[in-house]
Amino acid sequence: MGKNLMSESSDTIFGKIIRREIPADIVYEDNLCLAFRDVNPQAPVHVLIIPKEPIAKLADAESQHHALMGHLLLTVKRVAEQLELSKGYRVVINTGADGGQTVYHLHLHLLGGRSLQWPPG
Ligand code: AMP
Repeated sequence: MGKNLMSESSDTIFGKIIRREIPADIVYEDNLCLAFRDVNPQAPVHVLIIPKEPIAKLADAESQHHALMGHLLLTVKRVAEQLELSKGYRVVINTGADGGQTVYHLHLHLLGGRSLQWPPG
């Protein structure tokens, strides 16, 4: 399998986290999604929210994922409240090569706990 095909295959390191094959600091889970702390945090709070369904990237989402996409956003809000980010936070989805995506399993970054700069690089 070529490198690009491999990087966009349905099994990624996040699939291994969902299946508990590698450890993660999980902060929330339900039947549709999982939230865990980023191993290389860019802010005092840096959590990744992922669907259990292995959608590779936002650009691959389809109309059948309508409800799931809403659920992911509402889960961000729920986790932000759970982690007491009352002063605000940022939500980021890196998509594809130019978006800086490195793990090809859709994920929402929740960043908070400090004042964040804009624009990002
Ligand atoms: P992206 O660049 O948007 O694809 O983000 C991927 C993120 O996954 C990065 O912020 C990494 O630090 C994070 N990451 C990679 N491997 C792990 C892991 N095993 N546990 C938690 N976060 C991870």
